[in-house]
Amino acid sequence: MKNVFAVLIGTFLTVGCARTSPPTQVIHDTAEALGGRARIEGIKTLVIEGDGIAPNLGQNLTPDTDLPVWKVTEFSRVIDPSKSRMRVKQVREAQFLFAGATVQRQEFGVDGDIAYSVGEDGTATRASEWVGRERQREMLHHPITIIRAALEHDSKVSDVRSDGNFQLVDITNAKGDVFTLSIDRTTKLPARVSSTSYNDNLGDVVIETSFSDYEDVAGLKLPKRFTTKIDRYPQFDLNVTKNAVDANNGDFAAPETVKAAQVPPRSLPVTVTAEEVGKGIWWLAGSGNHRSVLFEFDDHLTLFEVPLNEMRTLAVIDTARTLRPNKPLTQAVVSHHHFDHSGGLRAAVARGLTIITYRGNVDFFKDLAARKHSIVQDALARNPQLLKIEAVDDELILKDRTMEVRLYHLKDNPREGTNLFAYVPRDRMHVQADMYDSNWLQHPWGDNLPYNLELHHLQVEKSVPVHGAIQTYADVLKTIQSRRAHAGS
Ligand SMILES: [Zn+2]
Repeated sequence: MKNVFAVLIGTFLTVGCARTSPPTQVIHDTAEALGGRARIEGIKTLVIEGDGIAPNLGQNLTPDTDLPVWKVTEFSRVIDPSKSRMRVKQVREAQFLFAGATVQRQEFGVDGDIAYSVGEDGTATRASEWVGRERQREMLHHPITIIRAALEHDSKVSDVRSDGNFQLVDITNAKGDVFTLSIDRTTKLPARVSSTSYNDNLGDVVIETSFSDYEDVAGLKLPKRFTTKIDRYPQFDLNVTKNAVDANNGDFAAPETVKAAQVPPRSLPVTVTAEEVGKGIWWLAGSGNHRSVLFEFDDHLTLFEVPLNEMRTLAVIDTARTLRPNKPLTQAVVSHHHFDHSGGLRAAVARGLTIITYRGNVDFFKDLAARKHSIVQDALARNPQLLKIEAVDDELILKDRTMEVRLYHLKDNPREGTNLFAYVPRDRMHVQADMYDSNWLQHPWGDNLPYNLELHHLQVEKSVPVHGAIQTYADVLKTIQSRRAHAGS
């Protein structure tokens, strides 16, 4: 009986397989539809020019609202597939209120394993190996380059399957990167390609690029629209104004200075300094421009902000614990959900801290704490802990005999819908993130800062920030007045 059953299953499997074409046939058909294998393999360069929209991931008003966007006014990408080289140049303009340069010119590239960026002054800087690997994958998010990769002898093509009007097939390149290609059954043209990547905040993510609006160029079919998503977020929507083949035979090798430069690590080393800015209050600065503030209570310590990423946050927690070794660090206020401010959330949870944040961040933080981090195992993946979270509505007062810290929800700010700031009445001290930075080029929401302090009749004398320098409140107001120009307009 057992044997008969096995034979039956075997028959079904054979029938199942016979219905789909073998992987190489699918790739062959797609190559034919795109212009033929010989044409694809003979390409020297692909030039893509256009304009588009590039959302700013992790910087929305609230965790659920649309991302603010950069308008990409000029875009060009040159790919030399035979040498695995790509160079991208773009100009982007902020379509949101922004305190930095609202028009930015960017240039970056990859040459084999070597990734680099070129500053506005022309100086080229080497990027990490990780960035190189990401850009190599990005180069294959194109119908021609992915089919070309699939045709290489050391690639593996497998698992042809159906999904409605599309055939899906997995392509594993020589480096071991896996891409899922989705092919339109009718036109035989690639519709989408996806691959996995890792994002410090989101963990394991799928990056997917859709291709549409194909045109004929020099015997090839090339898409006029590329739409890329990372996880559930839009990443780039490119409208192609020019597809050119072999029109640019320039040299896209990495600059010599970059080739000779040392490969930087994925994250730069972190230093944390501690400056006592009031009795039992420390400003934890050091490298970078993301700081935390530590408050000493009767029987515990509370951090304001676990910023940027795991490396920064673990270093901040370690430093905080050396300042009052006999009192446990038990809580972290996370000012808001922006990725550079919630980047240490998972590390803080891994270290057992209770998270205090505005109610509007709670669901999002639960999601961040629950996400899968298997491509890079972060502190929480290595040491799973339950998320302990305390939601704040309009205000929360943390108070005992030693310390009083009042937390307030920031009202009516155009960039920050879920932000908490702190006030220490004893020291007339204001502690905040993103309401103000002494280094900003302009202060498009400068009026919102005094507005919020006045709402609660706070008598601020000293400003101790997450970004920028410690200043008197008088100097804060002076700085805002001197750089009032509005951005993004
Ligand atoms: Zn910030």
